[in-house]
Amino acid sequence: MRHIAIVGSGPAGFYAAEAALKALGPDARVDILDRLPTPYGLVRAGVAPDHQSIKEVVRRYEAVALDPRVRFVGLVDVGVDVTVDELLSCFDDVILATGAPRDRRLGIPGEDLPGVVGSAAFVGWYNGHPDFRDLAPPLDHPTVVVIGNGNVAIDCARILARTPDELASSDIAQHALEALRKAQVRTIRLVGRRGPHQVSFTLKELGELGELDRATPWVEAADFPPPEADLALEPGQRRVVEVLRRFAATGPDGRRPIVVRFDFFRRPARILGRERVEAIEVVPTRLDETGRAVDAGPAEVIPCGLVISAIGYRTAPIPGVAFDEREGRFANEDGRIGPRLWCVGWARRGPSGTIGTNRTDAFAVVERLATTPSAGRPGRVAFDRLLVARGIATSDFADWRRIDALEVARARPGAPREKVVDLGELRRVALGAPVA
Ligand SMILES: Cc1cc2nc3c(=O)[nH]c(=O)nc-3n(C[C@H](O)[C@H](O)[C@H](O)COP(=O)(O)OP(=O)(O)OC[C@H]3O[C@@H](n4cnc5c(N)ncnc54)[C@H](O)[C@@H]3O)c2cc1C
Repeated sequence: MRHIAIVGSGPAGFYAAEAALKALGPDARVDILDRLPTPYGLVRAGVAPDHQSIKEVVRRYEAVALDPRVRFVGLVDVGVDVTVDELLSCFDDVILATGAPRDRRLGIPGEDLPGVVGSAAFVGWYNGHPDFRDLAPPLDHPTVVVIGNGNVAIDCARILARTPDELASSDIAQHALEALRKAQVRTIRLVGRRGPHQVSFTLKELGELGELDRATPWVEAADFPPPEADLALEPGQRRVVEVLRRFAATGPDGRRPIVVRFDFFRRPARILGRERVEAIEVVPTRLDETGRAVDAGPAEVIPCGLVISAIGYRTAPIPGVAFDEREGRFANEDGRIGPRLWCVGWARRGPSGTIGTNRTDAFAVVERLATTPSAGRPGRVAFDRLLVARGIATSDFADWRRIDALEVARARPGAPREKVVDLGELRRVALGAPVA
């Protein structure tokens, strides 16, 4: 037998489990641990609620969870409830698939003011992640600034821009839908240090901004290089820039009240406000010969009531596990952290790629793991003994299915589910307490 503990039940954790079943065959025994009783990581709590088709991927993970060699063990926070060393004493191998749940900091004055939120928190709030249910982002000002030029920034802007009716059939958390219904937001400004050629948007995500019921995108024509410069871009990026050029040509349309404005070539310098955010100061930039953004003019002040920073994520360190502070992920060499200790997904390579990238990543790491000898550890029998000794009540996949059924039953008409957002309630449902 080969006993493997995978910490984290997001895409990387499930792909690692699938890879272990393939590589080790009948000898594999895989425990997938998560601090929450709900599996699927950012597929549940990151992927946008109005992109339900992407969430279909969980069917594949469900098949893995139902394999008799696999166990889902919810409500175990590794590093808090049990240490990695303890896991290594129970299991032959430990694979960390804990993702990158912390926002990268902006590193500018004022970023701790109320009303400055990271995208992990904002996205977690509208997606009903229990850690962020009480975020209450201020939506009472006509302008919101989103910092970042990637898909997460677009997700944040799009959710703010959609009508409550457009969102009602999604699985957006009820508290977010209600707050957005009352929101005063009229302008969403996407601030990026560089220009249209440097964005990290994907075509579908960007194009969607041009198809919203009550919002139009707007790009300054002056921000583009001459059209012939687009020929130097690789074809995918060229199509993205074509969409941005279309947005610039159309401009805001008077019929739709919300504008999603791209503020290219602007460096966020300071966030201003007394009790809460009142404005952000940005400095115009230009690109130097090496492609770096350098300051190019006097600062401008954009009055706003909410600043969302969507500039990337960091893994949360776990005591005793080597950490790469600069990169914000576990220190690893092709997925190996140390003897019998591995990492996959965002915890290994940082926040990049699509859901599918985690599959390639996890399969490669497990392929390496499978070539190492088994340490002859006892596996889940020893782990269960440890949990009992410590009085830790865990949940399993059947408990998750009970939560799932409850959420589906509570859904608004036309919506796929209404998530349980309170950790106490999640625990009660998972651990089998009667539900009102
Ligand atoms: C806002 C947003 C939107 C996205 N949209 C898309 C999209 O549309 N399409 C796409 O292809 N990709 C999308 N992605 C990317 C995709 O979500 C990631 O590639 C993927 O989720 C990373 O997988 P992971 O398993 O490494 O991490 P995660 O999905 O974050 O999973 C980590 C898991 O580990 C658990 N965990 C963390 N710490 C501990 C601990 N100490 N103990 C126990 N458990 C722990 C967490 O609860 C979580 O379940 C999006 C990402 C974001 C942030």
